[in-house]
Amino acid sequence: VADILTFDGFLSHWAQERGDRTAMREEDRSYSHAELDALTRKVASALIAAGVQKGERIAWIGKNSDLYFILFYGAARAGIVMAPIGWRLSPAEWAFIVNDTRARLVFAGPGFEDLAEKLAGRLDHDPQIVTAGAARAMIDAATPRDFDASGPDDAVLQLYTSGTTGNPKGAVLSNRNLFALRRHSDDLDLPYTKWDDDEAVLVAMPCAHIGGTGLGIMALAAGIPGIILAEFNPDGVFDAVEKHGVTRFFMVPAALHMLLMHPRCASVDYSRLRYILYGAAPMPLELLRQCIKMFGAQFIQAYGMTETTGTICMLPPEDHDPEGNARMRSAGKPLPGVEIRILGPDGRHCAVGEVGEVVTRSSNNMIGYWNLPDATARTMEDGWIRTGDAGYLDADGYLFIHDRMKDMIITGGENVYPAEVESAIFGHPAVQEVAVFGVPDEKWGEAVKAAVVAKPGETVDEAAIIAWARERIAPFKCPRSVDVIAALPRNASGKILRKDLRAPYWEGHERMVN
Ligand code: ATP
Ligand code: MG
Repeated sequence: VADILTFDGFLSHWAQERGDRTAMREEDRSYSHAELDALTRKVASALIAAGVQKGERIAWIGKNSDLYFILFYGAARAGIVMAPIGWRLSPAEWAFIVNDTRARLVFAGPGFEDLAEKLAGRLDHDPQIVTAGAARAMIDAATPRDFDASGPDDAVLQLYTSGTTGNPKGAVLSNRNLFALRRHSDDLDLPYTKWDDDEAVLVAMPCAHIGGTGLGIMALAAGIPGIILAEFNPDGVFDAVEKHGVTRFFMVPAALHMLLMHPRCASVDYSRLRYILYGAAPMPLELLRQCIKMFGAQFIQAYGMTETTGTICMLPPEDHDPEGNARMRSAGKPLPGVEIRILGPDGRHCAVGEVGEVVTRSSNNMIGYWNLPDATARTMEDGWIRTGDAGYLDADGYLFIHDRMKDMIITGGENVYPAEVESAIFGHPAVQEVAVFGVPDEKWGEAVKAAVVAKPGETVDEAAIIAWARERIAPFKCPRSVDVIAALPRNASGKILRKDLRAPYWEGHERMVN
């Protein structure tokens, strides 16, 4: 399969090689590779019959679903671009993205039958809104016909960034982008990047993100079952591991935390689970240690972004030694075929250990942002993507992510990266969650502030948190003040919105880092 670079190629290939074996399952609906091949051909035919042309967009608003993957793969075969939209967003946010895509058809996932009403009056064009029932009927009724299959560099997926630092931006991804991780992993040729024939992978994160859709794609590329969970919930994950033979899953740190806190967690049989991939947000060291203790599986950290079609660096299982291994703080090493550099403010290359902006080049890099030529030009230059993340490389080539450039706090001329401070405070026994950000300060320019949520039944106060931090990190990194709040603001992908925490303090002030 090394030379297959497109959805059309993989779907045909596995239909021939593993026709009878399970390609995908959600609840009691399962599809063999032969069925998936036939269904996606019908989707391509139905979309073309409905007048959608190569290079045009369709959208999906709904939870994870077998129907989503059938529509996406079918569209991709014919070079029609799928834009999945996060179901947890508000109708106004859905409309913003639907308008941005200019989608011809908008599919409503199961349970979203009232989508047309929710979008009414908010759209600036007139897409056809298709419910899940109507979509299934449309596929059933379609007559397969020949179509012009999309090539490796044709756009097939438009994924919106999480909107952690501003409005979500549509990253346009090609067939080649979406199978790049598979190819880079093959090149590594290590046990944890080889996917055995008897494996099954869980799609537990939302399909509007690369950590959801991307896992489905990895399953397709490996010819193994993708087990779809409509939405993340601990019971669903535990059942998938115990009953459905799931051998790998990917989860964001917040989701792993929810698994750990669940009463069932300690009694689940994890014997078939081989690898837990995690990433998409900084992983608190203490949480990682707790996870390693709890789950028998091996851990792999993934670092990447929507614009790099997900993972470009991996921290392998052997670097997850909980006994004070400094590398556990690393986001890992670039995959083969991925270049990483660290740029200083003046554009020069940083030395080993020196923090700057992470930039990267590989066949993972998106085609560009949809409809945003200026943002594309700012982000992509000569094939390199500026990640907006601050980090450094150590002497062995391991990447350490400090934080977002935009979240860095400059206090008294010192750079403080919130993730490091959060990691220190997270270890406090009464702390459930924590976010650190900069607030204006007359003397220091910015001062470090922590927002802390106490564990149920526990109380925390400012003095205790500051004292805890003082024992663990340099004084200038310690919070000067602490807000104890009920919950942290998060976006639909569960990422902490430091910009929302910061905003009320900055009214009437100009922030230097932007
Ligand atoms: P937006 O670009 O709209 O502000 P976003 O950057 O959160 O939102 P994503 O593309 O979903 O959107 O997330 C990519 C970002 O997630 C990276 O730039 C990085 O800041 C963070 N990230 C990803 N993986 C890791 C990791 N392993 N460790 C720390 N941070 C990570
Ligand atoms: Mg981003």
